Amino acid sequence: MAVLHRWKRIQCLHVFTRNLTGKCDYDLLVIGGGSGGLACSKEAAQLGQKVAVLDYVEPTAKGTKWGLGGTCVNVGCIPKKLMHQAALLGAAVKDAPKYGWQIPGTVCHDWTTMAEAVQNHVKSLNWGHRVQLQDKNVKYLNLKGSLVDEHTVRGVSKAGKETILTAKNIIIATGGRPKYPANIPGAVEHGITSDDIFWLKKSPGKTLVVGASYVALECAGFLTGIGLDTTVMVRSIALRGFDRQMAGLVTDYMEAYGTRFVWNSVPKRVDKLSSGALQVMWTDTETGCEHKDTYDSVLWAVGRAPETKTLGLDKLGIQLNKATWKIVVGADESTSVPNIFAFGDISEGRPELTPTAIKAGKLLARRLAGQSTELMNYDNVATTVFTPLEYGCVGLSEEEAERRHGGDGIEVYHAFYKPLEFTVAERDASQCYVKVICERGGDQKILGLHFTGLNAGEVMQGFSLGLQCGATYSQLLQTVGIHPTCAEEVVKIHITKRSGLDPTVTGC
Ligand code: FAD
Ligand code: NAP
Repeated sequence: MAVLHRWKRIQCLHVFTRNLTGKCDYDLLVIGGGSGGLACSKEAAQLGQKVAVLDYVEPTAKGTKWGLGGTCVNVGCIPKKLMHQAALLGAAVKDAPKYGWQIPGTVCHDWTTMAEAVQNHVKSLNWGHRVQLQDKNVKYLNLKGSLVDEHTVRGVSKAGKETILTAKNIIIATGGRPKYPANIPGAVEHGITSDDIFWLKKSPGKTLVVGASYVALECAGFLTGIGLDTTVMVRSIALRGFDRQMAGLVTDYMEAYGTRFVWNSVPKRVDKLSSGALQVMWTDTETGCEHKDTYDSVLWAVGRAPETKTLGLDKLGIQLNKATWKIVVGADESTSVPNIFAFGDISEGRPELTPTAIKAGKLLARRLAGQSTELMNYDNVATTVFTPLEYGCVGLSEEEAERRHGGDGIEVYHAFYKPLEFTVAERDASQCYVKVICERGGDQKILGLHFTGLNAGEVMQGFSLGLQCGATYSQLLQTVGIHPTCAEEVVKIHITKRSGLDPTVTGC
């Protein structure tokens, strides 16, 4: 009660101070120092705004915590891509003898060495972000923020100390955190999430990964690649929302290279045995049969929940989508309260990707500083799933193109190709594939482009420019390839699915 009274007094005093002087502490207060929040606050400061950014990390159920920079830097893209690289090196070591390398003895992987190196890199990025904020004159506050009114934010430190801050505009960029499944005994006590895996000091050992989207498949991919016994438990389909054929190629490749898949199954409980092993019981939803196996680790990769619950949004009537708990935003990232904005993973209907959060944040900062009216264009955002065989895409899936244009309204060009790197190494290339989906009539505008193979992200980035510019199939064909690459297969593509001809690329 005493705390409440003290809090109310602080609140009244502060609102009074702001109203009396008519001046706020800051032009812009950003809650959340992740990909989006940092980009936005630095841009705003460069444009002459007085800016503060609040960032605070609640430790995971296992006690894992990290520094400034948000999901991507600490528990997402960066450690994930580095561990993916560790796995790719393992594959390269297996290829190496075919290329003449003489490797004495067995090559094995040491988790601790990899994890320490990755964690040290992440820590250097945390430091880099702090320095950049200082250099750009952004005030960084390691506080957990919540809204008091439309111009006031309450920040609470780890020690519980309160700070009240006021600003003309407030931005919410608090991202999301991994979910645990509901009603599975032992899930939280014995399981970990992607917020823990990259910070483990010891190898997770034999691992069950539950879930089948980006996070699940990427983690299962690198765990398999560094030599761990890894199983993915899929309750429905893999990579929901992606092109079905491409998703199939990704999981086929993973299966061929050692990841186990348990399809149509949901976990029931997790128990810790006296040996320390985790016993997982699950139900096969097709047969109703129950099964069990033991693992060293269970990784829940069952989606992410937005960090909206403790922000005090209800007090201000900020509209949320009641199904996802994300903030409803307009095209200009505005919320239902005029001077409060939200973007990145916290906002409804946006891709959960770092580059979109960064770009949306920078553009918002420019608009708020009165320097621009440009809105974020969320169309044709390219993405890559960093599975052992990478999958990059931009634009529509074949299913979505067919839904929008009808089966007769699209032409699908495709090719199975063999990366040159696979030949000497005698690697199977059955899942290396390119698909270009075009409108059937007129100039055959390209609607979607899909690629599985080496360096899919690097391949896809340039082609995404093509789609932004409205590229057509004939322009694709006018483009001369770079030989010998995998990307050249995209510009050489000529066999339509409709023709029924064999799409296997032969020769140069
Ligand atoms: P975040 O980066 O999550 O930042 C939000 C910040 O706000 C966090 O630091 C959080 O602790 C803080 N915060 C939360 N609440 C408060 C509060 N009340 N007060 C103060 N601070 C608060 N995207 C890609 O583009 N490529 C990839 O390869 C990729 N790989 C990924 C791999 C994994 C395992 C995961 C989980 C995600 C990956 N993503 C990837 C997605 C990407 O990380 C996110 O889309 C991106 O980080 C979102 O940025 P954001 O600024 O919206 O939020
Ligand atoms: P997600 O895309 O929401 O996928 C959740 C997965 O978990 C789905 O396969 C879902 O199956 C399954 N699932 C949900 N509840 C379950 C339960 N109770 N039991 C078993 N399975 C369950 O989540 P995500 O993989 O965490 O990815 C979140 C976002 O992060 C992505 O949308 C992406 O934008 C971003 N990300 C990007 C990258 C990248 O750019 N490379 C990498 C990682 C993450 P159903 O399909 O049956 O629902």
